[in-house]
Formats: sequence, C-alpha cells, structure tokens
Amino acid sequence: MRCPFCGNIDTQVKDSRPAEDHVSIRRRRFCPACGGRFTTYERVQLRDLVVVKSNGRREDFDRDKLERSIRIALQKRPVEPERVEQMISGIVRRLESLGETDIPSKTVGEIVMESLARIDTVAYVRFASVYKNFQAADDFDKFVSELRPGAAEDAPADE
Ligand SMILES: [Zn+2]
Repeated sequence: MRCPFCGNIDTQVKDSRPAEDHVSIRRRRFCPACGGRFTTYERVQLRDLVVVKSNGRREDFDRDKLERSIRIALQKRPVEPERVEQMISGIVRRLESLGETDIPSKTVGEIVMESLARIDTVAYVRFASVYKNFQAADDFDKFVSELRPGAAEDAPADE
C-alpha cells in the first residue's frame, strides 16, 4: 500500500482488526520513510453492482465515487470519519441486499439521502438540493462540482 503522504510503496501494517461495521478489516499502517500513519479498510465486494441511469445508461457501481460525493456533502461538518465510513458501508450493504445487480440511480440517491439525513442535516440538505438537478443531468462530475459548498448557491437553478 502506497503512503498517501510521500508516495513510498513500502509501508508496514501495525495492526489489523475488524472494523466496527464487521464487514471490513481496518488496518493501521506506518510509513518508515516519512513516519506517516494512516488507516485502510479492506472489504469483500459481494456482488458487482450496476447503476442504471434514468436515460438507460449502465455504469458499474463505483464505491469511490459514492464516497467522494458523500465526503463533499459532509465537508467541514462535525462528523467522525469512522461514522462516515460506517455509513458508506451501510449504504453499500443495503444496495447489495436489494437482491438485484441492476440498481436505478434514483434508488442509490434515495438511500444516500436517507443515510445522510440520519447523521447530518446540513449535509443532507446540500446533497438533496444538488441531487435534484443531478437527476436531470445524470452527470456525476457535474454533480460533484455543484456539491462543493458555495458552488451550489451560484449555480443556475435550471439549465
Ligand atoms: Zn511516507
């Protein structure tokens, strides 16, 4: 695992244990080159999920994309990183437990909004307000750029 601070690839695992959500392994790592410490989570991909957009386009489910949008919505909010990690795992578990490999993008958005609403109202409102436009645009990069705090207020309501 490459060190996120200096790029050294020879990092050491100091400790491994099940994460609180019990679906992933949490590893504490140490970089001997720069002294940096970081934590990684490993998880089993139970099934390969496909997100079906409103225009019918299909895209492999991308946990990193989901995580990125959630982290932006939660930017500067007082929520513990472990709690965010738990929430994301919970969302993925819910998606996996739907019993379908094809999941409408609308369903993904609704589950994310439900989960955000439970942990932080401000993040929920940020996500929900941008998500409304996103459904029309169906463009993730645009979604993320609009999600950045401050950007949403400047964006035109309709395009
Ligand atoms: Zn390093």
